[in-house]
Amino acid sequence: MVRVRFAPSPTGFVHVGSLRTALYNYLFARHHGGVNVLRIEDTDRTRLVEGAVENLLSTMKWAGITFDEGPQNPGKYGPYVQSEKTEVYRAHAAQLVASEKAYPCFCTTERLALVRESQQAAGIPPMYDRHCRNLSKEEVATRIAAGEPHVIRLRVPIGELIRFNDIVRGDIEFDSKTIDDQVLIKSDGYPTYHLANVVDDHQMEITHVIRGEEWLPSTPKHVLLYQAFGWEPPKFAHLPLLLNADRSKLSKRQGDVAVEDYKDKGYLPEALVNFVALLGWNPSAFEEIFTMEELIKGFELDRVNKGGAVFNKEKLDWMNSEYIRKRSPEDLLVYVKPLIEKKGYIVSDEYILAVIKLMQERARTINDFVEFASYFFERPTEYDEKYKSKHWTPDAKERLREVLPEFGALNTWSHDSLEGVIRAYAEKSGISAGKLIHPIRLAVTGRGMGPGLFELLEVIGKEESTTRIGHALEAL
Ligand code: GLU
Repeated sequence: MVRVRFAPSPTGFVHVGSLRTALYNYLFARHHGGVNVLRIEDTDRTRLVEGAVENLLSTMKWAGITFDEGPQNPGKYGPYVQSEKTEVYRAHAAQLVASEKAYPCFCTTERLALVRESQQAAGIPPMYDRHCRNLSKEEVATRIAAGEPHVIRLRVPIGELIRFNDIVRGDIEFDSKTIDDQVLIKSDGYPTYHLANVVDDHQMEITHVIRGEEWLPSTPKHVLLYQAFGWEPPKFAHLPLLLNADRSKLSKRQGDVAVEDYKDKGYLPEALVNFVALLGWNPSAFEEIFTMEELIKGFELDRVNKGGAVFNKEKLDWMNSEYIRKRSPEDLLVYVKPLIEKKGYIVSDEYILAVIKLMQERARTINDFVEFASYFFERPTEYDEKYKSKHWTPDAKERLREVLPEFGALNTWSHDSLEGVIRAYAEKSGISAGKLIHPIRLAVTGRGMGPGLFELLEVIGKEESTTRIGHALEAL
């Protein structure tokens, strides 16, 4: 039975890399009919952020990632929040101390800082100098009885090779001399990530640990812990790094990294999920658009790549526009309406639906419906300079002046009647219809491009359209 877990630390926003980790765990669990567990790793009390867990839960829900066990729906492996089981970790650490696999360390932060400085000065990588590793049992007992603050450290074996297999990267070896005598219990009594993570993965009977590559250096420490406890380690799969376009590590400096940012900017959950799913894995060389069901069906860890995955924002935009096209206008209304309300525009649902229908083919994000199509909701306050000199020639002004009353005389304001007026005018004056269409578009929308003019005028309505043309004539 496959059991996997997503084990975030609630330290703020949800990184797109975390979304991918959560997604791959979910896909893997669903593909194998297994169990997907959510575990909150909150033992680093200094990094806790208020509201981070709620934000995480709502982000997962938005993305369509579900958990079979977790803080909200506990199974028999709880608690699912690490800060609620510190006693368990302490007991496990004590067990390791008793079997001499771990030891109490009384070094002060001042002493550790001095050691680090002298190592740095000597050009050696900073590591704990194992000062307390061989204290006598008596000394340890006396100092603990005297209430001296201490941590518990793992007694990392000296001169050993630590080997494990990674489903993505194959066989991996670490020399134990590169591994610090890891702190397992901090002086505040809380476990470190390493101890809590291993104890929980064991107790929760996790079969596969699927997580980002940044955790690879922690894995030998975990393997040592499994050995120390005499437990069978789970299988490991480390997912490739996410990269910026220039192949540096994905960073905020080069664009958004929080799932919430994409959500706020009008990306549909299924588009972001589809995009993120392909960061490091692809089931087919020909296809890129997949539903969640298809992702579940196709997902295999052995097809995850080792090499870093470039976060290509243009591709995300393309995918999002594909999904926007696929949705019904009524569906999109649910996303567009709140943005319109937020802007303070007062319009009916029918009106918004008409705008959605016109813009659906062109929008890359939900925000585009409001940003690029703002002229459906408010009069243009300026006109695109680039097109002004091109379209608002003295001739054009004359034509607008002549056509305006013809618009005013229309009894039915529709695509067809508007087209009729423009075509007839163009014909009798021996000009192309474009000579009218472009100046009118600029007058009504302030822009040089957009959906078809007649549809657009129909939606904006007679009074508003003619008023805007009148205003443009004044501005001309
Ligand atoms: N708490 C770690 C994180 O924030 C979990 C890493 C792991 O999956 O082991 O990503």
